[in-house]
Amino acid sequence: MKPMCPYTAGCPFFVQNIPGSARAVAILRRRYCLSNHAECARKQVRDLLGPSFVPVNLYPTDSCWADSIIEAEQEKASGPAG
Ligand code: SF4
Repeated sequence: MKPMCPYTAGCPFFVQNIPGSARAVAILRRRYCLSNHAECARKQVRDLLGPSFVPVNLYPTDSCWADSIIEAEQEKASGPAG
């Protein structure tokens, strides 16, 4: 059995009521928070950028959104091109 996500205590997706289907949220919590957290979009943003960069409504499955957040911040950090 895989260990649970280290961010469960402070992660809004895990500790708050999330809009949408309660059943779907429960499934995602089991699938990501309690098992496969390395694949979670929220965790990927938090690991790379910090908790303040994780939108409250970002779902664990929102990997495209997570990628765009990470890319935008990395571009800002690298400064203007040229
Ligand atoms: S939603 Fe992602 S970051 Fe939050 S507790 Fe679950 S696996 Fe961890």
